[in-house]
Amino acid sequence: MADMKIVFLGTSAAIPTEKRCLSSIAVKRGGELLVFDAGEGMQKNFLQAKLGINKKMKIFITHLHIDHCLGLLGFFQTMSLLGRTKKIDIYGESRLREFIHENFRIINIELAFEIVIHVIDKEGVIASEDGYQISCCKADHSIHAFSFCITEHPRPGIFDVEKASKLSIPKGELYQKLQFGEDVFVNGKLIKSNQVVGPKRKGRKIGISGDTRPTTELKDFFNSCDVLVFESTYNHDYQSKAIETFHSTSTEAALLAKESNCSKLILTHFSSRYDDPKILLEEARTIHGNVDLAEDMKTFYVPYAE
Ligand SMILES: [Zn+2]
Repeated sequence: MADMKIVFLGTSAAIPTEKRCLSSIAVKRGGELLVFDAGEGMQKNFLQAKLGINKKMKIFITHLHIDHCLGLLGFFQTMSLLGRTKKIDIYGESRLREFIHENFRIINIELAFEIVIHVIDKEGVIASEDGYQISCCKADHSIHAFSFCITEHPRPGIFDVEKASKLSIPKGELYQKLQFGEDVFVNGKLIKSNQVVGPKRKGRKIGISGDTRPTTELKDFFNSCDVLVFESTYNHDYQSKAIETFHSTSTEAALLAKESNCSKLILTHFSSRYDDPKILLEEARTIHGNVDLAEDMKTFYVPYAE
């Protein structure tokens, strides 16, 4: 079973502050890194968080606003200089390819690793791995923008060792086969997996909103997330500003998380007007029972629900 943690590398909207870098979130699942957005300056926090230079990595760009993608170039170069050799898969809208290619051409960057650009041209699953998949949904922002979900595949059920021993199943390989759903023969007798293994258990689901207004589509998309990271640029006093700029308030983030049955909500992407975004937390907590504030370099572990 893979450990999973969310590390915030940048939590400020539009303008960095003394304490907050521009948008970037890293999710470390086992030995793999999933990075969502790369705001300018995020590489410093990435290095400080010691997330690993040569780990298997995918990067997802929610949209091409400068505070979400300008950190990519420096991040690539730093990893290359520090010895990265593994390829990176990067996902985003069609102009992401242009953005990377044009910048590489003009600045003449040469990297020691390959970058594979995946243009997102549809909603739904965009990347599949052994234990999880990444899906995307259109967000409602001032330009083309996406929200993402990491959804783990269900885990095998609980293995009943006592029952297995009563059935004289020898420990080792057969246990493993049964655990993963295979039926086996023991002394010529068929033992079905479900005789000793309980029902499959739900994997974890993490939602990442990017910049967006709350929408019904996103409410469905984020349904039953264990952790939902949702942008909360403003508090309720700035509701009209949120509508005008296609962002969300902490009240709206909390309402969406509640209506989507998300177990935990983490607010991020705070306007630089909030020196301390505590006011956003307090507001959201009146609506949802489990809310936290993201901070640069803060880590949240994501345990299994059961
Ligand atoms: Zn933004």
